[in-house]
Amino acid sequence: MIQTRDTQYFEHLLDKHRLKKTAPRLRVLSMMSSRNTATSQPDLENLMHDIDRVTLYRILSAFEEKGIIHKVFDLNGTANYALCSSNCTEHHHHDEHLHFNCVQCKNVYCLNDMNLPAINLPAGFEPQGFTIYANGLCPKCSKKAVKK
Ligand SMILES: [Zn+2]
Ligand SMILES: [Zn+2]
Ligand SMILES: [Zn+2]
Repeated sequence: MIQTRDTQYFEHLLDKHRLKKTAPRLRVLSMMSSRNTATSQPDLENLMHDIDRVTLYRILSAFEEKGIIHKVFDLNGTANYALCSSNCTEHHHHDEHLHFNCVQCKNVYCLNDMNLPAINLPAGFEPQGFTIYANGLCPKCSKKAVKK
């Protein structure tokens, strides 16, 4: 099972960010890492019925603040969360990779290998992060489209 294999890594991650290793936190991490798309809070609620909404909300905001997960928006404007690459730190996210919104299944994918080019903003603008989205069909949905 994926969960047992990764628990040690997640415990280490929580240690590193000085968060207590609670069972719900570890479950949220292993759930997010087992999915290849970003996950919205309602989806996480459905996947983990035994973690109540307030607890889940607190876990997600703590993780986001610590640089463990980052927020991306799907085409409906719903916030989705994905695990960060290891170079994110507290209050400083470096998730400068392309995000892909599938117009069919509405999933958001982190394309971690697609780094964004350096963008120089006009004088006076101080960026705190960049998010660039691409829209289209994900591999799963484009395969289906061909079959038709
Ligand atoms: Zn991040
Ligand atoms: Zn899709
Ligand atoms: Zn991402």
